[in-house]
Amino acid sequence: MNKTANPLLEKIIKYKDAEQVQAMNLYPYFRPIESDQDAEVILEGKKVLMFGSNSYLGLTSHPKVKEGAIKAIQKYGTGCGGSRFLNGTLDIHIECEERLAKFVNKDSALLYATGMQANLGAISAMTKRDEYIILDKLDHASIIDGARLGFGRVSKFKHNDLESLEQVLSNCNIDKGKLIVVDGVFSMEGDLAPLPGICDLAEKYNASVMVDEAHGIGVLGEQGKGTCAHFGVSDRVDLIMGTFSKSLATVGGFIAGDTMTINYLKHHSRALIFSASIAPANVGAVMAALDILESEPERIAQLWDNTRRMSSGLLALGYNLGASETPILPIYIGEDLTCFKMCKMLQDEGVFVNPVVSPAVEPGQSLLRVSLMATHTFDQIDRALDKFNVVGKKLDLLR
Ligand code: PMP
Repeated sequence: MNKTANPLLEKIIKYKDAEQVQAMNLYPYFRPIESDQDAEVILEGKKVLMFGSNSYLGLTSHPKVKEGAIKAIQKYGTGCGGSRFLNGTLDIHIECEERLAKFVNKDSALLYATGMQANLGAISAMTKRDEYIILDKLDHASIIDGARLGFGRVSKFKHNDLESLEQVLSNCNIDKGKLIVVDGVFSMEGDLAPLPGICDLAEKYNASVMVDEAHGIGVLGEQGKGTCAHFGVSDRVDLIMGTFSKSLATVGGFIAGDTMTINYLKHHSRALIFSASIAPANVGAVMAALDILESEPERIAQLWDNTRRMSSGLLALGYNLGASETPILPIYIGEDLTCFKMCKMLQDEGVFVNPVVSPAVEPGQSLLRVSLMATHTFDQIDRALDKFNVVGKKLDLLR
């Protein structure tokens, strides 16, 4: 068969971007790590400093978290054999939901298999055809896709711009349902949503607010309860979404809110009903991670000490870190190719960071995403800063 004659394959045959970057030996994706996800990892047989992980508290290899997962497997096995809706609900799912609801100061919570599923499942179920979903322009892809899956009318406002949000809200029919969804911490930029102002506008225009706490939990607020806790607006925000794939050291997600809304989602959220339940090991791990968050506040303090050391070091070298206020430090580069080059040069120097290009950021605004963990030592941070200096000078990026 002549494959070029198949129109479905045309775009696939034309897609050469990855190959071109591979040919230049600059391809930065799917790098196979041969160790656990810690402050140092093994890559191509070599130790490298990991400054690209979302395991902010460094708990993925914590003995108590591993033990939580192992004990859950020993008791419940490796899977649930079905959806939460039918045969796949375990007593530990319910225990975990009650714990998470309390943790984020809500009445009820609902577990999903991933954070992406939580956003897809909750956002799409929340709005009907003549209602509105209102998003920050830089919201995470899973929020955008959740909105796409729903029947509500989707509008976007300028990033963190309350005037722009008000303009969008004032154009909506006052009598129809409106859901504003924002990242509490923006995952690539590391800045915070202005939640108090968003809540004020939501109240003025009779809208509901949902906050994605993927990068807030374990990082901000007392005991790492998140961005809503940090701003003291947990009771003004209607829905709080979280993921287990960052500070909580495993895989999974949840939505928390009032009991009536969670009950509605339990019976309308397709990503929940038509997908198998989160595995016992993940539930065991997340409960052990929550124990640590609640009992070891010094971990979060260390994460912040590490963040300050790295951000002041990078700023002193002359890098532009934008508006970041968190352990996510974006080094703004601009050109994709320069970004890939810098990433490769840093890897060759023994430092792992993530390149971020369109569509994760606006075209032409590529960045290197540096992220801190509580388990980094000052020595590791200083060694990385030396390498950022060497590579930045070679590429003439220091201002
Ligand atoms: N929301 C945000 C802001 C995220 O950064 C991510 C993960 N990158 C998700 C949701 C999806 O979470 P998960 O990895 O659990 O699917």
